[in-house]
Amino acid sequence: MNSFLFDALARIVGSRWVKHRRGELATYSMDGLPTHEAIPGVVVMPGSPHEVRELVRLLHLIQVPFVARGAGTGLSGGALAEEDAVLITLTRLNRILRVDGVRRRASVEPGVVNARLSEAVAPLGLQYVPDPSSQAACTIGGNVAENAGGPHCLKYGVTTNHIVSLEVVLPDGSVTRLGSEQGEPWGPDLVGLFVGSEGMFGIATEITVRLEQMPESVRTMLADFTTVRAASEAVSSIISAGIVPAALEMMDQACVAAVEASIYAAGYPTDAAAVLLVELDGQSEAVGGEAQTVENILLESGARAVRSASALGDRARLWQGRKKAFGAMGRIAPDLAVQDAVVPRSALPGIMDRIEEIRKQYRLTISNVFHAGDGNLHPNISFDRRDPATAARVQLACRDIMAACVAAGGSITGEHGVGSDKLDYMPWIFDAETLGAMRAVRRVFDPAERANPGKVVPVHACREWHAVKSARA
Ligand SMILES: Cc1cc2nc3c(=O)[nH]c(=O)nc-3n(C[C@H](O)[C@H](O)[C@H](O)COP(=O)(O)OP(=O)(O)OC[C@H]3O[C@@H](n4cnc5c(N)ncnc54)[C@H](O)[C@@H]3O)c2cc1C
Repeated sequence: MNSFLFDALARIVGSRWVKHRRGELATYSMDGLPTHEAIPGVVVMPGSPHEVRELVRLLHLIQVPFVARGAGTGLSGGALAEEDAVLITLTRLNRILRVDGVRRRASVEPGVVNARLSEAVAPLGLQYVPDPSSQAACTIGGNVAENAGGPHCLKYGVTTNHIVSLEVVLPDGSVTRLGSEQGEPWGPDLVGLFVGSEGMFGIATEITVRLEQMPESVRTMLADFTTVRAASEAVSSIISAGIVPAALEMMDQACVAAVEASIYAAGYPTDAAAVLLVELDGQSEAVGGEAQTVENILLESGARAVRSASALGDRARLWQGRKKAFGAMGRIAPDLAVQDAVVPRSALPGIMDRIEEIRKQYRLTISNVFHAGDGNLHPNISFDRRDPATAARVQLACRDIMAACVAAGGSITGEHGVGSDKLDYMPWIFDAETLGAMRAVRRVFDPAERANPGKVVPVHACREWHAVKSARA
């Protein structure tokens, strides 16, 4: 990166908001996943959508790649930029622009922190439902790019179900609006296409979301089991009974031990092999009836005890350990590789056994905390990346876990995205032709593939790449 570019960027955002010293850049060399690292050429922090447009237009003129970044809590190495790219950090765009309580809509800038939005609309009796466990830090822009999930997405759907329109700066610097605040727009679902596109189609600069009424009644239940298998089977039994809880989460013994040894201790039984957290919400009468059915199922499935809470403070205490589980795991070792995969719910018991085998094989510490109702696993490996031998075993274990999930009829990501981390696994689930089609869609938005280059679609696995290679041979 040269001084001409630094000066040009500074003219748009002010020199204070251009970071190019080695120490400053190091802050942005990772996201939440410690297995991937890259130092960007320069970091620029626009303060308005207008500045984002000007930046992207400039980078288009000089054909320099760029990567958007929210809070950097991503867990797939998606918000990393290489030395030849400009990292555009959006955390200064943190204004809630409009709230319409009657139509239940809010329009926000991309750097608004997820939890701040629900706090802001709570006095109206409303909430923004998607609640990633990182919600105290992650941004709505990052949630849109990753199509983020969260404990309450089991019943209410992931981010894509809650976004009605987007203002997007395309990689050539032009601005477009996708979707409509009024209702379903005519034509293809371009909002649906953009949500989950992991920063490859441009930068979302304004996001209009759907808000939901807060439920009249909420019941949170904690059940503990002596085997992971019994807890996994209870998950399937609850859903088979026709009940869709607002949330249905599992933590294994290693996770509970980490939580209970930390300042986030929530009173979970440390001798349990697994605990389930089940939340029901809706009209009071319905919640009461469903709670009774769920309690019966849990006990019939082998739960030793079921604790139940309705009052806000008691429920918050039950949730505390789950929401802060990743923070608690931070005490076990310097690094934590959070993995993300999804399997059919019915495959949960078998896959949990397989993860335990992999843990033993590679002599690693793995704690599981996950969205069990969705079959969305998060095996978390605690390690020290300064030890190359351990780091290598972590990579092998991650690969084996992904392979086991694919073999069980699942997929390589449930909510954290492909980013850099899962690139090598994409050909396991998509053939060369499908990967080529994905690349073609990307090029509709970004012909030169300068937006978040090298992520998501493994170019070398695409059919067109093979064609070029054989033509050259
Ligand atoms: C402790 C912890 C718990 C987590 N729990 C969950 C969970 O329950 N569910 C879940 O889904 N995820 C979870 N995550 C992962 C992460 O928080 C989410 O992926 C989140 O959506 C990332 O938001 P961010 O602002 O940090 O984005 P970043 O990490 O900064 O960026 C993520 C991706 O979004 C792109 N991007 C960012 N902003 C924009 C924009 N405005 N326009 C276009 N592209 C953009 C980036 O280029 C990158 O590809 C968790 C992470 C941690 C650390």
